[in-house]
Amino acid sequence: MPEDKNETQPKKQYRRRRRQSKSQKQRERQSSSGQQTDSKNIATSVVVPLYNEDASIPELSEELKSVLGGMGMPYEIIFVDDGSTDTSFKVLRGLHKNNKRIKVIRLRKNFGKSAALSLGFQQASGDIVITLDADLQDDPSEIPNLVKELKKGYDVVSGWKKRRRDPITKTIPSKLFNYTVRLVTGIKIHDFNCGLKAYRKEVIKRIKVYGELHRFIPVLAHWQGFSIGELVVKHRRRKYGKTKFGITRFMKGFLDFITVLFTTRFAARPLHLFGTIGLVSFFTGFFIDAYLTIQWFLGNITLSNRPLLLAGFLLIIVGVQFFAIGLLGEMISRGQNMDDEYSVRDILD
Ligand code: UDP
Ligand code: MG
Repeated sequence: MPEDKNETQPKKQYRRRRRQSKSQKQRERQSSSGQQTDSKNIATSVVVPLYNEDASIPELSEELKSVLGGMGMPYEIIFVDDGSTDTSFKVLRGLHKNNKRIKVIRLRKNFGKSAALSLGFQQASGDIVITLDADLQDDPSEIPNLVKELKKGYDVVSGWKKRRRDPITKTIPSKLFNYTVRLVTGIKIHDFNCGLKAYRKEVIKRIKVYGELHRFIPVLAHWQGFSIGELVVKHRRRKYGKTKFGITRFMKGFLDFITVLFTTRFAARPLHLFGTIGLVSFFTGFFIDAYLTIQWFLGNITLSNRPLLLAGFLLIIVGVQFFAIGLLGEMISRGQNMDDEYSVRDILD
């Protein structure tokens, strides 16, 4: 019996080799006919996250093909189906079959726009990466303009939906959101969450977009030292389907902002944040109580009817606690290797 096995094995291997070489030949043929995209030659990757957008996809794909074709350079379009429950994937499969420049990634379930973008970024092989929403609200004809702006020397160019075609319930909170983020981060752009953006490859391979942090990509990029530009882009009304983000988006947006601030600014130096709060609280309490104690010594007051004394104690205790949290944070961050957090531009060796 064992001899039998030995006899059959080489045959199997041979068959496998033949199969491999056949598919290799097929690949070569396809690439020479220009059908198959060769990762080295791709200049632009377009990443489209989508969730239940079957009605919009065919039109979007036609628009993208005509715009990208007109730019006269090799491209790929990566659709990331974020666990759609409609026929989006079927539509995408059809598109992929007819055009090998169209790639499709399908998630097992709906993980959210950030996850979809992140996976698209991993797969993208172009030197320039464009993102846009799948719902036809972002106009593909803006892509050449974004690329032109990027080539002026920016690492990221973010679209600005100056004339926004959305209901007022979305536009007003969004203005407030953008204003706050602009004020706190000092990044001078007006529309952080615009779906239409252009990136140099280094940026998307560098930043980590998870949770719902897609709203803060310019902030994440800025903190890595990348330069951010902005360009006014056309915005269109949603033609099919409805928005995938409810009113909770703004609450979540502000909570995520705290996460972003913390992870970009203070993750390496937690004592700078907690220590500052702690010291301010401690010394305020200390001076209040010192003042009351002196007054008491001088016989001007009795302490029993001064609730301020308790406020002073509270501030001192809270101050010490904040400081201690900061120190604990320092110990934790010291234990972590932060090398990966620093973004290197060049190495001359
Ligand atoms: N999207 C996604 N996963 C989600 C929610 C949305 O991939 O869980 C996609 C959606 O299909 C669209 C883009 O993200 O292509 C923007 O979503 P939407 O148009 O609903 O957002 P809005 O324009 O209302 O801000
Ligand atoms: Mg939309």
